[in-house]
Order: sequence, then structure tokens, then C-alpha cells
Amino acid sequence: MNKLPEPLENLVKHLSRLPGMGPKSSLRCALAILKLPQSEAQSFGRTIYNLHDDLAICRRCGSLASQNPCPICADPSRSKDTLCLVSEWDSLLTLEEGGFYRGQYMLLGGLISPLDNMPPEALELELLRSRLREGEISEVVLALGATVEADTTAQYIKDLISREFAGVRVFRLAQGIPQGGEVKHMDRETLRQSLKYKQEL
Ligand SMILES: [Zn+2]
Repeated sequence: MNKLPEPLENLVKHLSRLPGMGPKSSLRCALAILKLPQSEAQSFGRTIYNLHDDLAICRRCGSLASQNPCPICADPSRSKDTLCLVSEWDSLLTLEEGGFYRGQYMLLGGLISPLDNMPPEALELELLRSRLREGEISEVVLALGATVEADTTAQYIKDLISREFAGVRVFRLAQGIPQGGEVKHMDRETLRQSLKYKQEL
């Protein structure tokens, strides 16, 4: 391939760092951006440019939002006694899309996985403690999936809560999730059922 003009080459380089983007698809994408009306391409660029400044991390749940607290934490119609723990934001989005869960959320920021350099201390345990110390939460639902890492994390959180917040009950989603399953990949009905038939740990 002939050398691309530098501006295009730079764009391809950036695109190729995105998930699922190889050299060919990055070039195809760059050419598609080039074909956009200039105003649209500029608005696209500005969106990326401002992304970090325009997003806030919600102090209560740790999720990304355009305001802090996020609309979910600020919603007075949601019940205050149930806290659903998820590993990352995409699981929260999957649960919210279902529309059947009406409690609170908190992101743990990952799952315990010593091999991937994720010790328990890397999780948002202080945020969890501060939410539980408020005393409103009586039930914690672990929606961490059905992987080895999820099981390890679930056991760790369960132990922490029994030790420090004895009155709080801990549940996990019913094991309708196939082994190796992640919450973000679950369909709405499976997720609804596994929440309905959640099991106490
Ligand atoms: Zn929030």
C-alpha cells in the first residue's frame, strides 16, 4: 500500500487501537469519516475531544454520567434498601435496559483475579463500606456473573459484609447463568428470572 497522507495515517493509527479494529477496518473507517460532511466530522471530533471533561464519575455508585450524582442514584422513585453490585458499567447498562430492577447500584471496578493483577484491594471496597454505613441498605445483590473470578469475588464480598455489616443480607443472581457467563451478555429474560430467583449466600 502507498503511504497514506499523514493526517489520514494518524487517524488510522488511533482507530486501530479500538477493540475489534484491525488495519483494514481502521482504514475503511477513516475513509468513511473523511467522506462525512465537514461539519459532522468536526462535531464527531469535538465529542471525542470533550469526552473526559463532559463526563463525571458518580460518587455514590462509581458509574459514568454527565452529572454527579448520576440520574439513577438521584432518582427518588428507586428503592433505597437494595444495592446491586456489578463489576463494570456494561453490566449496569444491561440490567437497566431490562427495566425490572428498581434499586440502587454500585460498581466494584472489576473482579478479583490475582493472575491479572486484581487483588481484592483493587476493588471499590471503601465505596461499598461507605454505602453500607449509611444504614439504608438491607440487601446486597451480587450480579457478578458465573466465572471463577466472579465466584471468588462473591465469596470475598460475602465475608466482608458478614464480618462488618452483620445485618445486611447478601444474595447472588440465581444460577440460570451458564458457567462462564457474564452479566453483560445475558438476555433480558434470563436476567429477569435470575434476579427474581436470587439466592441468599
Ligand atoms: Zn450513581
